[in-house]
This record gives sequence, structure tokens and C-alpha cells, in this order.
Amino acid sequence: MSLLVDAFGREVEYLRLSVTDRCDFRCVYCMTEDPCFLPREAVLNLEELAWIAQAFTELGVTKIRLTGGEPLVRTDCDELVKLLGKLPGLKDLSMTTNGSRLTKFAKPMFDAGLKRLNISLDTLNPKLFTQLTRNGKLERVVEGIDAAIAAGFKHIKINAVILKQQNDHEVLDLVEFCRNRALDIAFIEEMPLGEMDERKQARHCSSDEVKAIINTRYPLALSNKRTGGPARYYTMADSPVHIGFISPHSHNFCHECNRVRVTVEGQLLLCLGNEHSIDLKSIVREFPGDIERLKTTILQGIHYKPKQHEFDKNGVQILRFMNATGG
Ligand code: SAM
Ligand code: SF4
Repeated sequence: MSLLVDAFGREVEYLRLSVTDRCDFRCVYCMTEDPCFLPREAVLNLEELAWIAQAFTELGVTKIRLTGGEPLVRTDCDELVKLLGKLPGLKDLSMTTNGSRLTKFAKPMFDAGLKRLNISLDTLNPKLFTQLTRNGKLERVVEGIDAAIAAGFKHIKINAVILKQQNDHEVLDLVEFCRNRALDIAFIEEMPLGEMDERKQARHCSSDEVKAIINTRYPLALSNKRTGGPARYYTMADSPVHIGFISPHSHNFCHECNRVRVTVEGQLLLCLGNEHSIDLKSIVREFPGDIERLKTTILQGIHYKPKQHEFDKNGVQILRFMNATGG
């Protein structure tokens, strides 16, 4: 049982740990074309990340997901995976990646102890892929996905952010791609993190609209699969693949939220859609190795976890971008 229980009785057992704000892509929903990345000294080092992870696991966190930015652009990421893999109490160590470096890193990451991957893929059209990522190459990501399967990863999930009139016509192709490789897929509604011109277009595509597209070919049945997260999963009659929907706008599941985030600057972020945060970097830098002090700060901080997010699809209230948040 987790000691991290917030003011609304929600037990926190899941940490998303951001390891970098940098990325080789510039996805149109995540960051601007010319982002300003943090200076190296502002970013937690390997030891600091490991201390923070240790403190959370000692408090009852059993699941950690590494994210960013793109975690695989950080050169010591395999070292971090090895360190975290040894934490007693940690049952599930996973990563969200854009897949661009998986041909090189899937096997070393698997061997280092990473067991689950979420890989982002919003389209199977090479030209559109380059448009949406502003510079990415689809081929590399597809090769990366296949390298992850070959490396032994068993529970790969594809993440797709769907934007109206940009990639909503790709929904069925993405489903086919996942059916062919027996991968689960989650369709995500865009969240308004950070201000950018692109978000002024009316491009919100609801999970119900995506579901309706899939239902034209594969009638979906609600599954009882639950991950303790915001996704709701569905199945198709003739496939083991699960299709999830993450719908912060249309279906709010904040009352079940079991997670917090630590940004790459060491801010404990209590909710993706609120600015409430606690500074953990100053603790690890002022009192290196003082794990009890860190745990006390986290325990106290959890009480400030807000009841629900404040996203509004018509406006931006959260100034930080997703890459600086740890999506
Ligand atoms: N770079 C890695 C990747 O793209 O998978 C990990 C970090 S990325 C910020 C984590 C996830 O957040 C990705 O699946 C991405 O599609 C999603 N994401 C980024 N910006 C988003 C936004 N504004 N709304 C919804 N999801 C977003
Ligand atoms: Fe990079 Fe991931 Fe953001 Fe795309 S979503 S820009 S891959 S951090």
C-alpha cells in the first residue's frame, strides 16, 4: 500500500519521471518549432534522478515511467534504467519514446531492465509524419518499433494524438498497423499545454469521434482492462489488440488519478492540468543523499494534489509545454 494518499483519498503509486526536455522531433502539439531548452545545470543528473525515484518507491510507488522530451536522446539513459531496475518495490519500469532511436537502443534498454514501452506514432503517411513532427522520418520509427518487438518487449503500446483535418483520416490505418503487429494503441485528445499558434486552429478531435471512425470497420466492445490511468480500453471481436482512449476533455477521470510527475527540473508536478508543484531539486542539491528529508517533502506535497485538471480545449491556461512537463 502506498503512503502517498492525497486530500481526496487517492493513493499515488505511479510516477512519471522526466529525464530530459530535449527532443529530436518538434511535434506540432507538443512544442514550438524553435523551442528553448533548459541549460544542462538546470536538469537533474543521474544520481539526483535515482534518489528521487528511490524516495518515491520507499513511499509506495510501484510503477515508474521514464519520459521527456525524448528519453533516448539522453546518453546516460541506460545507466538510469540499470539503477532504477534495482530499486526494491518497483514492479514496473517503462518508457514513453518517439521510437526514432530504438533501432540502436531497444536491445540495450531491454537488457538493462526496461520491460515496457509506449511508442508514439500519429500517422503512417511519411509526408504527414514529417509535417506533424516537423522533421521526423516515419521509416526510422517503424524500424524502431520492429526492433523493440525483436528485442523482446512484450507489452508495446502505440500512442497517437489525433487532430482534426490533420491525421483523423489515419485512424483506421493506425488500427490496422497495430492489428498486424498485435500492439495495443491509445488515441489521445490534444491537451492545451503551452502557447503556440498551431493551437489556435480548431483541431480538437474527441475520443468519441475517433471511436465512431473505428466502429465503421470494427465494432468496439468495452473491455475490463484497467491500468489505473485515464485510458478506457475497448476490444475488437477478432483480435487480441486493445484500443484505448485518453480523453481529458470529453471524459474526465481525475477522481481515479493515481499518478504524479517529476519534471526534468525536479519539480514534483501534482497534476498535468494544473500548475501546483513542489521543488525537489533544491532538496536533492542542498541535502544530497538525505532520502528522509526528500520523502518528508514528497509526503507533505501530495496533500496539495488538486481535485481535477483545469484543461479547456478553447484556451491555454498551462504555460509549460508537454516536453518540459513529462507527458
Ligand atoms: N518523446 C516521447 C514521445 O513522444 O513518445 C515521450 C514524451 S511525449 C511528451 C509523451 C506523450 O505525450 C507522447 O505520446 C505524445 O504524443 C504526447 N503528447 C505530447 N504533447 C501532447 C499534447 N499537447 N496533448 C496530448 N498528448 C501530447
Ligand atoms: Fe518530442 Fe515526444 Fe514532444 Fe514529439 S511528443 S516533440 S517526440 S517530446
